[in-house]
Amino acid sequence: LMWPRATPPRAWNGTGSTPHFSEIVLGRCFTYTQLLRPELGHADCGQIGKAFTNAFLSKDPCHSSEQDYQLLLKLTSQTIPCHSSVFWSKSTQLAHLYTRVRQDMFTLEDTLIGYIADGLNWCGDAGSYEMNYQSCPHWRKDCINNPVSVFWDTVSKRFAENACGEVQVVLNGSVSNTFDKNSASAYLNPHWPRRSVLNPVSSMNNTFGRVEIHNLHPGKVSVLKAWVMHDIGGVYSYHTCSSPIIDDLKFILSKRNISFTCEDDYRPIKFLQCVKSPEDSSCRK
Ligand code: NAD
Repeated sequence: LMWPRATPPRAWNGTGSTPHFSEIVLGRCFTYTQLLRPELGHADCGQIGKAFTNAFLSKDPCHSSEQDYQLLLKLTSQTIPCHSSVFWSKSTQLAHLYTRVRQDMFTLEDTLIGYIADGLNWCGDAGSYEMNYQSCPHWRKDCINNPVSVFWDTVSKRFAENACGEVQVVLNGSVSNTFDKNSASAYLNPHWPRRSVLNPVSSMNNTFGRVEIHNLHPGKVSVLKAWVMHDIGGVYSYHTCSSPIIDDLKFILSKRNISFTCEDDYRPIKFLQCVKSPEDSSCRK
């Protein structure tokens, strides 16, 4: 029995839950487990869908926690072979084009949990059993501990913890924040994750630098290979492997006893860019 709610749900500054969220989750789960990766055919998509919505329904969308997602994580556990994890930052399209061709490689979005959730929005409300399709907390304007941000932090952490062997990261050398050093230093700050004016959330928006590199296991991951890619026809390259920003990444990894290599415009990924711009001089030689 449901009583009419006393107050309407609060209006947040972020986009509301994706229409048909539950149906999309269920459909993606079946697509992934039945068609794309039948080795996961034993997964129970009904249970996974329920665990996903139970993680945030009837809860305050500014107090989401890693704990809320534990059952969902358990139900979607998946072994990724060593030498096949691909991280990315500011390069979502290119990284996913790469793993689409290299089916033996996995970004987080090529795993079941990432495939299900990629591009979706979701939140509930403490005073209701329903999803909020009107608005959800914006991570910067409303609160950091919202269901979507906490979800990506939680699954990104697990993805990094499980990585082994040689792992790769696709970085974007055509943006100023190729690697967000502030994200990393914010994490190293003893007061993390406390947020204050001294530790503004605007410098915390990079999951690769803030979460993933810190959760690679030194004994398991032998080397992180970075590919710094540049937009074809881009007027200006902000960063290359010789940029100080890459030294920051190298330094953090060396402190964690993980080897690091860097290559500008890695040819296999460059070829993907050249499919779109075959006439560019850099594609003709
Ligand atoms: P990025 O800055 O390119 O961001 C990736 C996506 O996550 C963007 O759509 C961005 O808007 C969103 N995002 C980032 N931080 C967020 C936050 N705190 N709350 C809500 N949305 C947020 O690259 P990144 O931040 O370094 O993240 C990419 C890496 O982390 C990848 O290696 C991947 O494994 C993982 N990741 C994936 C997603 C995703 O949407 N598929 C989101 C976060 C993290």
